Amino acid sequence: MDLFEKCATPPLALQMKDAGFDAFYRVLQSACDTEVVVDGRRLIMLGSNNYLGLAVDPRVKNAAAEALSTWGAGTAGSRCLNGTTDLHSDLEKRIARFYRRDAALYYTSGYMANLGTISALAQRGDFVVVDKRAHASIVDGAKLSYAEVKRFRHNDAGDLDRILESCGDSGGKLVAVDGVYSMDGDIAPLPRIVEVCRKRGARLLVDDAHALGVLGRTGRGTAEHFGVEDQVDLIVGTTSKALPGLGGFVVAEQQVIEYLRYGATNRPFIFATAAPAHVVASVRAGLELIDREPALRNRLWTLTRRMLHALQGMGFDTGASRTPIIPITVGTLERTFEMWRKLSEEGIFVNMVLPPAVPNSGCLIRMTLTASHTDEQIDRVLDALERVGAELGIIPGRSEPPKIREVG
Ligand code: PMP
Repeated sequence: MDLFEKCATPPLALQMKDAGFDAFYRVLQSACDTEVVVDGRRLIMLGSNNYLGLAVDPRVKNAAAEALSTWGAGTAGSRCLNGTTDLHSDLEKRIARFYRRDAALYYTSGYMANLGTISALAQRGDFVVVDKRAHASIVDGAKLSYAEVKRFRHNDAGDLDRILESCGDSGGKLVAVDGVYSMDGDIAPLPRIVEVCRKRGARLLVDDAHALGVLGRTGRGTAEHFGVEDQVDLIVGTTSKALPGLGGFVVAEQQVIEYLRYGATNRPFIFATAAPAHVVASVRAGLELIDREPALRNRLWTLTRRMLHALQGMGFDTGASRTPIIPITVGTLERTFEMWRKLSEEGIFVNMVLPPAVPNSGCLIRMTLTASHTDEQIDRVLDALERVGAELGIIPGRSEPPKIREVG
């Protein structure tokens, strides 16, 4: 059998494209700001992870430009050989200080941070227990690890307890969860999860890709939000969302970071080229701004409350979202695409979440907010959503808003 035979059956996204539902791989003709240009038209951007607007902040761009002229375009090598510059070392120190932790390790992507950290720490005879909705990079890290992989029901600490008990006492146990789930915008119940991990002697990794800079009084994420920072062993983050640039990191105690930095098992760290200096410089500038400008986070939460309140008032189902990631459950693929298309015609950029990420009849429109969205942009978005939602029969029409739901 020819290896390429499978390629003759197009994947879902390509089948959709061929059927005229061309919703993926849209080409942006402008920077990722609150409005973007696609096919020559301006759209309000509700489909990025640029939570604090820092991806286009002039201070961040200046820091990157300066580093580019000093250090050039690439590192041309792995972190462990020639790819560590002053900037990389300095960023790791600053990330550790930001989290009030011993040490940090900076990878070239967030995906690699999970892949490397999990696969290096969990080995044959150990267990990795992951939430059923955990990000693909957690699942892939667990698969790469040679440890036994188990999954527990989403956000269900009771199920986690049962599964950890079934692991027995012979191997080490790592529990890995997202702090904020990227599709539904719900938050992991960390207080209950840390309690179970303690009781069962398991180490806990929290992937805070969507919580860094967003949740917690100072933006330190889900563990800060719940006041359980001292009980989370490893925090993974990405430097491509609230933090502007590319890359990912893990923070932990010194000995663990040294093991990850110098041990031979952290293959995604060792066998990949280090991020270029201008990327590191933009992340560093972003970290300073997260620290210095809590107003950005406050603005994001003001918009989040407004949006959730308004959408629920209109009758949309926003699921368990409590964060700037706001999904709307639409239903079938066709209906969801229709909503996506109409919103696009109204000048709004949103994303669709389709099977297998959701059940066949539970397709979502996923929206994310940015601190720099203006009130006027949000007015336009809400107007369009109400019109399109009513046209498609997703919402009943105008109704009184319910009492505001607690978020943040
Ligand atoms: N973890 C989560 C929860 C994510 O959503 C993502 C990417 N969106 C990653 C990890 C991977 O990060 P990166 O895009 O930096 O590779």
